[in-house]
Order: sequence, then C-alpha cells, then structure tokens
Amino acid sequence: MSVLVVGTTALDSIKTPSAENPRLLGGSASHAAIAASFFAPTKLLGVVGGDFPAKYIKLYQKHGIELAGLERVKAGQTFHWSGEYEVNMNNRRTLDTVLGVIESWSPKLPGDYKAAPYVLLANIAPPIQHAVIDQLSRPKFIVADTMDLWMNIMLPDLLRLLKRVDAFVLNEGEAHQLTQEDNVFSALKKIHKLGPKYVIIKKGSHGAVLSGPKGFFIAPAYPLKKVVDPTGAGDSFVGGMIGYLASAKGDVEKNLRRAIIHGTVTASFCCEGFGVVATTKATRQAIDARVKELEALARF
Ligand code: AMP
Repeated sequence: MSVLVVGTTALDSIKTPSAENPRLLGGSASHAAIAASFFAPTKLLGVVGGDFPAKYIKLYQKHGIELAGLERVKAGQTFHWSGEYEVNMNNRRTLDTVLGVIESWSPKLPGDYKAAPYVLLANIAPPIQHAVIDQLSRPKFIVADTMDLWMNIMLPDLLRLLKRVDAFVLNEGEAHQLTQEDNVFSALKKIHKLGPKYVIIKKGSHGAVLSGPKGFFIAPAYPLKKVVDPTGAGDSFVGGMIGYLASAKGDVEKNLRRAIIHGTVTASFCCEGFGVVATTKATRQAIDARVKELEALARF
C-alpha cells in the first residue's frame, strides 16, 4: 500500500564540528519520503520555490517518489533551515529558519493522494497538517511529527491535531516541553491523554520508546561508530517506520515493533553522510542486513 508524506521540502545549511555544507537537500518531507521509498510507493506533498535545484527533483525521481503533489512557486524562495551541531551531536542549535513559500502555502491534494492509506504528517506547521487530514478520504493510519517551534507558537493547533492522529512521534526534549515531565514513561502517559493511541519518543543515539495499548517497546539505536550529520535522522526514522507498515501484511499493532526497527536502521544510514547523501546510497538489502544485526544485538 502507498504512503503519503507531507512536510518541508527544504534547502539546509549544516555545520558540524568538522565540516560545513550549504544548501543541501533537506526538509522533514524529503528525508521521510526517501526513507519510506525503500519499502512502499511514496507520494510527496510539499512546496518549493524557483531556487530549488533540478538535481534534487531528479533525486526524488530516482527513488520513484510521486511528485504530482510537489508545488513549485517560481517567484518564491524555498524553505531554508540552518543549524549547527556541538561535539556531542545529540545537541544542535537552529541558526536560522526562513519559511519562504511555506508561509503562505495551503496544500491541495491531487486526486489519488486523497485515498492514501498510510499518511505521515512530517514536521511542518500544524495548520498545514490539519489541512491535509481534512482532504483525506479513507486514511488507515496517520502519524504526526512536530518540533519545539510549533509547541512555542501554535500549541492550540498542535493539541487539536493530537486528537486526529493514530500515532505521535516526538523527541525527548519535546516530550518534556509538552508535558513538563522529565521521566519518559510519565511523559508517555500524559501524551496518550492528549489523544494518540500510539506515542513514540525518540532518544537520539539512545534509541526510541513506543507506548501503545499493548504496553511499551524499547528499541535500541543501531550502534554507529561515526556520525557525520544526524540532520533528518528523526524524519528518516518515522519515514522508514511508516513505509515498512505500508508494506507489511496484517494490522499495525502486529507490525509496529518491526516497523520501528526498520525506521531505526534507515535513520542510521542518514547519520552517515550530510543531508540525504548516505540515505540515498542505502539499499533495501543493506537495511535488512542491519535489521538482522540489531535483532541479534537486542535478543536475550
Ligand atoms: P530532524 O533532524 O529529524 O529533526 O530534521 C531536520 C530537518 O527538519 C531539516 O532537514 C530541516 O530542513 C527540517 N526543519 C527544520 N526546522 C523545521 C521547521 N520549523 N518545520 C519543519 N521542518 C523543519
């Protein structure tokens, strides 16, 4: 079955302690759609400006990503994010965010997008996430991601969104900001009360925790020896997860743990290069090999 991914399609300028790279392909939807495309047919919904390089369109196409829902505003500027990492790459600082064409974008789903069964509302302004749900005809499973910025400036919209999605994915810092709980398990309990049946808290290089009707699942991270750039790891995680769910037989409850492990592994490839460079070099075979390794490491 297919996956619809909406989110930012961006140009990212990224600084790590060892290198600096301007105007790379980035954005929550770019990372997530490329990750999902390893597992299932993927439709991208987003908007770019006239400055968006043709080579990045070709990259989406190389992954078989459907682009009927990628709008281009010739006179506008593509969303641009710049960030800087500390030596401990779990810590980063946003240096600048230019919303550009996203600021006035109201998404319109092309006909066949409306019937997408698996929907990922990747990190973008909550009103855009709502506008996408409003146009869906028969969603089977909706996952939403977010970030601290939207909690700061659009909390009521985000809280309303949580009542409309099946699963919510956020990182540890965001979970703390939303609930005022330091303890991950107390935070999970509070977030369920806001609406979602499944909640996943990402813990960077320490893995992720899923909470659902059948209890918790603790997923380790893939043990990478060298992280080049973790930008987009969270988006690759959730993209890989929903892509795997869309490809698997049976219901979500049955497949969610394996989906999280496939998301974890897809995110590990993302961290091995700047932007999407390493993710785009991965293969389904290489992903499956790391899943097996992780399975062996976590079994006891
Ligand atoms: P992650 O590392 O998974 O948190 O995702 C990083 C990606 O999120 C980058 O490629 C950015 O372009 C994108 N991004 C940064 N700020 C925002 C924002 N305010 N809304 C949506 N996407 C963003």
